[in-house]
Amino acid sequence: MQADVLILGAGPAGAIAALNLAAHCRVLLLDRLPEPAQRIGESLPPAARRLLVDMDLWQAFVAQGHAPCYGNRSIWNGEWAEQDFLRDPDGHGWHLDRTRFESWLRAEALARGAALLAPATPLSVARLEGGWQLLVQTAAGPVQLQARLLIDAGGRASLLGKKLGARRTRQDKLVCVWLYGHDRGETPADGLSHIEATEHGWWYSAALPGKRRVLAFHTDADLPPARRFRESGWLAKAVGEAPGLAALLDRSGFSADSEAHIAAAHSSELQPAAGDAWLAVGDAALGFDPLSSQGLFNALYTGLAGAEAGYRHLRGETAAIADYRRQLADIAQAYRDHLRLYYREESRWADAPFWQRRQGASDR
Ligand SMILES: Cc1cc2nc3c(=O)[nH]c(=O)nc-3n(C[C@H](O)[C@H](O)[C@H](O)COP(=O)(O)OP(=O)(O)OC[C@H]3O[C@@H](n4cnc5c(N)ncnc54)[C@H](O)[C@@H]3O)c2cc1C
Repeated sequence: MQADVLILGAGPAGAIAALNLAAHCRVLLLDRLPEPAQRIGESLPPAARRLLVDMDLWQAFVAQGHAPCYGNRSIWNGEWAEQDFLRDPDGHGWHLDRTRFESWLRAEALARGAALLAPATPLSVARLEGGWQLLVQTAAGPVQLQARLLIDAGGRASLLGKKLGARRTRQDKLVCVWLYGHDRGETPADGLSHIEATEHGWWYSAALPGKRRVLAFHTDADLPPARRFRESGWLAKAVGEAPGLAALLDRSGFSADSEAHIAAAHSSELQPAAGDAWLAVGDAALGFDPLSSQGLFNALYTGLAGAEAGYRHLRGETAAIADYRRQLADIAQAYRDHLRLYYREESRWADAPFWQRRQGASDR
């Protein structure tokens, strides 16, 4: 099987790269999952609207019926704050039904001409003159694929980038434990994300479409709370340490109805994140701390930027990949600067390792 561009990962970044390239060349998307899995990561900031409009996806996105997000409520450094999106030129943000969002992006990529091979995962990659040869495990057994350009959109594992010799560096040890549930009563903070700092990390909750709610806690993998993540009922009990959020859950009649899940949530980078006839997009290139709420935006943005760089590369523009690397470096720098500022605003627990680690002179 031959393609011009082979994209590993049909998540948000891979689907966006595919739907932008499919009008110009043969695109093959690979994913280990036949359908997107349920996963955390539902806050989409207002600025995503511009990208969706540019890619002619906006009307179809709105028709998906995701819940509007009117801003963030936080208890940070002991102060309640509300940052609303009223004056944002892009309007409000969104609390997504994440599975619906990902299924829709995959479908858009296919509608625009990309092909999808799933479940499929690469076993080996070899450089050929003018491109690549991959051995890929599929449901029907191993198959050989050839492509002129590879895009790693496989998320934080950066499987393809690592197979090509790049290294993943992490800046911290952040992990997240979360569960889903539903609100039975009124939801006073409907349409607002809630963020609350505590001694060992920070909490997050958001109301989702259909009276669903996500509840999450973030700390470092080597700190005591992380050792209790797997204890049954721990998360629902521990939220008592975040009084603002506990009161909100009480008022909204929140009741958990899923198991607790655990995910890596550290800041990390693939180095390099692009090279000779390959590039990485989304989390495969840059993994963001969820406090930034920028992971999905970055997946859409770099999916589009990576598609543009890939298209220029296929047309023989030798600077395309280096230009893309510079774009990624600028994004990473802006991300680190913002994140550092935000963590430093919390000064109540100067002796607590979680906060000490985030308040040094530099995070690098
Ligand atoms: C706890 C947590 C909370 C978050 N909350 C938010 C939030 O509220 N808002 C926000 O904007 N972002 C959030 N994020 C970040 C956001 O989820 C990611 O930035 C986003 O999913 C990145 O999209 P992606 O397409 O790059 O990668 P992914 O979504 O990880 O997609 C990767 C795809 O590659 C496939 N794949 C992986 N390995 C292989 C393989 N070996 N073979 C074949 N296929 C493979 C996967 O099945 C998947 O479909 C959060 C992240 C975490 C960890």
